[in-house]
Amino acid sequence: MINIQMVDLRSQYHNIQQEIDKAILDVVESSAFINGPAVKQFADNLAKYLNVKHVIPCANGTDALQIAMMALDLEPGDEVITPSFSYIAAAETIAILRLKPVFVDSDPNTFNIDIESLKKAITPKTKAIIPVHLFGQVCDMQPILEIANNYDIPVIEDTAQAIGAEYTFSDGTKKKAGTMGTVGTTSFFPSKNLGCYGDGGAMFTNDDTLAEKLRMIANHGSKVRYYHEIVGMNSRLDSIQAAILDVKLKYLDNYILARRQAADKYDALLKDMNEVITPYRAPYGYHVFHQYTLRLKKQNNQEVHKKLAQKNIPSMIYYPVVGHKQNMFSAYHAIYLPVAEQLQKEVLSLPMHTELTDIQISYITDHLKEIVYNS
Ligand SMILES: *Cc1c(COP(=O)(O)O)cnc(C)c1O
Repeated sequence: MINIQMVDLRSQYHNIQQEIDKAILDVVESSAFINGPAVKQFADNLAKYLNVKHVIPCANGTDALQIAMMALDLEPGDEVITPSFSYIAAAETIAILRLKPVFVDSDPNTFNIDIESLKKAITPKTKAIIPVHLFGQVCDMQPILEIANNYDIPVIEDTAQAIGAEYTFSDGTKKKAGTMGTVGTTSFFPSKNLGCYGDGGAMFTNDDTLAEKLRMIANHGSKVRYYHEIVGMNSRLDSIQAAILDVKLKYLDNYILARRQAADKYDALLKDMNEVITPYRAPYGYHVFHQYTLRLKKQNNQEVHKKLAQKNIPSMIYYPVVGHKQNMFSAYHAIYLPVAEQLQKEVLSLPMHTELTDIQISYITDHLKEIVYNS
């Protein structure tokens, strides 16, 4: 019996166990658990990797979004545009701050924010745009930034699923996801492409003034201890997590290659199946395959998910309920976003991680074919 996991963090750990264990023990030995040197070292190394001026660590990817919006001085009732077909964090933090989420539709190929929908959603009250680089694929940032610049609207790039992904502008310039907008945010949740062993997050920016403000908000609105300039929160990346991340950052490019190889293998084995659409790779992007997400053209995704589970093959539906259909957003239920609503019925994410073997992938695709052809 072949044992396949959606994400295999234990094998990944075992491959770098000595380095990780030493990094953890060094922090414990130093007892610099909060804001220790490990945090600064990791932030500096990540800034170098991303080619961005400032990396501001925080407690998780959801806080990063909230702090980014707090730093932009948005007023209650201001509109913030974000895709409905996404993880809930952006919409939720918009609502927490008493801002108004404006849900827009997605592109059926990339699963990312649809440019035409974005254009149509802009009003004089639009005060931020949050594109989400979903499943490891960058959004089409050039038109997004053009629209944002025309209307002078800040862009917060949610990079929780796409750290290391790259965008190529029409003049050939390449930039890493999260470093093109006003602020980039990310999560180091264990299963993310760069994950720690608990919770963690960060914000990125090239703007010195904004960086200082983000740092203050994450630290109780304070620069000097016990003196509080603005209302902030307590959102820290702890030193042990930073030390783990600093080790894993060295392997990030290799991890991305492993994910891309697994995706190539899936593509090759599934290419003759008319019943599924394999992930599109936008020509402007370097896809880092946080997820390998199919669209099922004939079957219901919940059914296929259940049948795979009966064969001991994990799969996930990201996301079964789009933002504007969530109970927390009951006032939005009447909105119709055709692509987002179609995708929630079609998408199925197959196991994807850095330790996936060709044998496992063949086993998964063989069973997927059997299920799809026999139903
Ligand atoms: C994981 C994720 C987040 C939230 O990250 P946490 O660290 O769990 O708070 C935000 N946005 C997207 C797109 C995510 O995938």
